[in-house]
Amino acid sequence: MHCPFCSHTETKVIDSRLVADGDQIRRRRECQECGERFTTFESAELVMPRVIKTNGVRQPFDEDKLRNGILRAIEKRPVSLEKVESVINRIKHRLRATGEPEVKTLDVGELVMDELRELDDVAYVRFASVYRSFQDINEFREEIDRLGRGKKDLSA
Ligand SMILES: [Zn+2]
Repeated sequence: MHCPFCSHTETKVIDSRLVADGDQIRRRRECQECGERFTTFESAELVMPRVIKTNGVRQPFDEDKLRNGILRAIEKRPVSLEKVESVINRIKHRLRATGEPEVKTLDVGELVMDELRELDDVAYVRFASVYRSFQDINEFREEIDRLGRGKKDLSA
């Protein structure tokens, strides 16, 4: 931790305490060089990778955008908000677990589709049609047929 006054690299912790219900640790430090004191706050940070859009633009991961996309897909479907939240948590977990600093929008979309496929067929097709932007109507129909076959296989 550099001293903010003189940029010296050696600072000494003179006091530490937990704050924000134990989510943060507040440290008083003293610079070994100039003797100035300053405070730092540390918290365990669960870093989300940045998202690379198809046009190459990098953006911070946007949880609200993800949630809105899923909510649009499940509109008027029998899916509880609780399930939506657990889907979002699983997706965030899987993205963090990649250990990658950046992920493609399309990869995020694939994760969402994996989850929605389990959750609700209609939501899945709605989401896929937007996210994967099916090349043409035939591809879209094939996907629906494939889902239909899955259903039959299950009931057979
Ligand atoms: Zn200093």
